[in-house]
Amino acid sequence: MNNITIIGSGTMGNGIAHVFAQGGHQVALIDIDPASLERALATIAKNLDRQVKKEKITEVDKEETLGRITTFTSTEEGVKNADLVVEAATENFEIKKKIFETMDAHAPQGAILATNTSSISLTQIAATTKRPDKVIGMHFMNPVPVMKLIEVIRGYATSDATTTAVMEMSQKLGKVPVEVNDYPGFVANRILMPMINEAIITLHEGVAGVEEIDTVMKLGMAHPMGPLQLADFIGLDVCLSIMHVLYEGFGNPKYAPCPLLVNMVTAGYLGAKSGEGFYKYTPGSRDSVVSEMFSK
Ligand code: NAD
Repeated sequence: MNNITIIGSGTMGNGIAHVFAQGGHQVALIDIDPASLERALATIAKNLDRQVKKEKITEVDKEETLGRITTFTSTEEGVKNADLVVEAATENFEIKKKIFETMDAHAPQGAILATNTSSISLTQIAATTKRPDKVIGMHFMNPVPVMKLIEVIRGYATSDATTTAVMEMSQKLGKVPVEVNDYPGFVANRILMPMINEAIITLHEGVAGVEEIDTVMKLGMAHPMGPLQLADFIGLDVCLSIMHVLYEGFGNPKYAPCPLLVNMVTAGYLGAKSGEGFYKYTPGSRDSVVSEMFSK
């Protein structure tokens, strides 16, 4: 699989394009928003620069990597020659449904159609296409060039051949793929989000303060980031929407989102991206955590 198409050039799409281009693949990067494509290329260049500074790659590697990425605003055009498509557009079923219908019609018959969704059912996405056996989840973690894991999610109809091809491709990228089945939250968010929600309940009930809760989990459990700070970085709106997926998907009250989380999202306190969640953020503070991760 040499020709890779990435749909959506936001937070995740630019990182996924970076990793595939660095792995020697020709990358078509698609977004409906030309400004997002421009920002993505600038971010990839900045992150490659960090790797050059750390002497992990050379200036020539950087230029060659950037040279392998072509941008498109049309999905029809961008998927035409794809061997593998990774969809990383906005987390909304209706948007993904339209994208999968379009790529099913325009990508080569044999192309694998993957999605980076964090919470939407793979089986439901696959059912919008005429090739559900070739639809699979490739759930990259943020920041993509740094994080090793890819949660590879099999929908109900995903074939063994598709799964094997994606597991092998992930390994070639230097990542560690883990195969899981399609149930609400998959594995990562099924375990992470209830932990974050429980941290918010612990705060809400006055058991301890924000920094105390995060310190217990950092120093006591060796987590690199406390659950409340992690929630701020993920986005409290994203955490809430994943809790809804778990709550509705399992019909179990143990997944009910904490009322404090609901209130904060309603009031627009979304975490780092809105300037305040459990902590306050200035424009540079989010970036400095990311650059610290790149320096490791
Ligand atoms: P984002 O909002 O940063 O980027 C989404 C991009 O998709 C935007 O640039 C938008 O213009 C583009 N887009 C929207 N509709 C489109 C269309 N029809 N065709 C092409 N492009 C379109 O979002 P993100 O955080 O990068 O998330 C993308 C996906 O990755 C989501 O499914 C999300 O659940 C998943 N994900 C996110 C994270 C994370 O930490 N942010 C982690 C793992 C998985």
